[in-house]
Amino acid sequence: MKASDRARDSSARQKVMAVHEDDVKELLSKLGIIDQVEHNKIKCPICGQNITVQNVGLVYKKEGKLLIACNSSICLASARMEI
Ligand SMILES: [Zn+2]
Repeated sequence: MKASDRARDSSARQKVMAVHEDDVKELLSKLGIIDQVEHNKIKCPICGQNITVQNVGLVYKKEGKLLIACNSSICLASARMEI
């Protein structure tokens, strides 16, 4: 690997949050909701913005319904209190 490649590689890695996009996709397909997410059919129950593969914060169940909170710190905190 060239030095320039390595530099780009590490800067790309810093942008990755706690969960990798591929892991999120795998999780969402296991839950059977990947199609809904990819078609912008799921909204964050707290702030109402569309959930995408990039902004999945927390997946949880409330009253038997599967909900996905976005990854903003306010929504994550509220979602955690509902679990
Ligand atoms: Zn939100």
